[in-house]
Amino acid sequence: MDTRYDLHVHTTSSDGTKTPLEVLELAAEAGLGGLSFADHDTVAGYTDVVFAHAKKLGLKLGPGVEFSAKHKGHSVHILGYAIDIKNAHLLEFCQKHQKRRYKRNLAMCHKLAKMGMSVGDGWLVDEAGMPIQGIGRPHIAKKMVTRGFVKDIKSAFTKYLGDGKCAFVESGIFSVEETIDLIHIAGGKAFIAHPQLCKRNRLLKEILKLNFDGLECYYGGFGNFDAKRWLEIAEEKNWMISGGSDYHGDIKPETCLGSSYVTKEIFENIFGL
Ligand code: AMP
Ligand code: ZN
Ligand code: FE
Ligand code: FE
Repeated sequence: MDTRYDLHVHTTSSDGTKTPLEVLELAAEAGLGGLSFADHDTVAGYTDVVFAHAKKLGLKLGPGVEFSAKHKGHSVHILGYAIDIKNAHLLEFCQKHQKRRYKRNLAMCHKLAKMGMSVGDGWLVDEAGMPIQGIGRPHIAKKMVTRGFVKDIKSAFTKYLGDGKCAFVESGIFSVEETIDLIHIAGGKAFIAHPQLCKRNRLLKEILKLNFDGLECYYGGFGNFDAKRWLEIAEEKNWMISGGSDYHGDIKPETCLGSSYVTKEIFENIFGL
């Protein structure tokens, strides 16, 4: 088997449950050759200490991010790879997303409270009253489980927090085009994340016409059979291919680190590392 490179991994910088350092340890234990953290709307997981630890463990760590974008009212996830994580425009873009997240999370908690399911909102800020970065819907879902309002995270999403459900608050601020441009400005390559999950053919058709550099062909628990369709599209467009598990740790226990991956050649092609 080829050495595996998992390019879609979440950490505690967003809604994963393992810290970047813990994820690196797990990746080394699992025998991966390298990985990319694709945290939601942040690159905070990429610190000097984290890069140094990856090196020590013999892991290649490629800079990545997963942005939430909007297209005609629908949410689209876009992966940015090989970005300059210190780029000022990128950091400002991430900051705007974090502000959006805070307002959106607050509004969702208030909606839940009105429905008699108070999860509080004090935990959205730190001791100094500053919004904590990287909070997402899975954190709200977890609070709902802890307080006994739902039996598990999945039902929190199906009943209340999922797109369009009664406690959902729409909050997209940047279009797909704006997000692709920003990734390019930060020196990176823009990939459509998990096209497998897009159930709207028209939406998919439209975004496939945009200025992307690649497509996430291998994803989560989907097998090679499913990848074929996406590999063909990538080839037709002369796009790069990527792949990863979308590992989130304990909040998504069915997804293992390294369950979807790309080869060393593909990793090197994307990151030049
Ligand atoms: P957010 O970025 O805060 O809007 O949250 C989106 C994240 O919630 C996704 O990336 C998943 O990790 C998680 N998520 C979305 N839908 C579901 C679902 N139906 N069940 C479990 N987790 C979900
Ligand atoms: Zn997530
Ligand atoms: Fe995603
Ligand atoms: Fe993801």
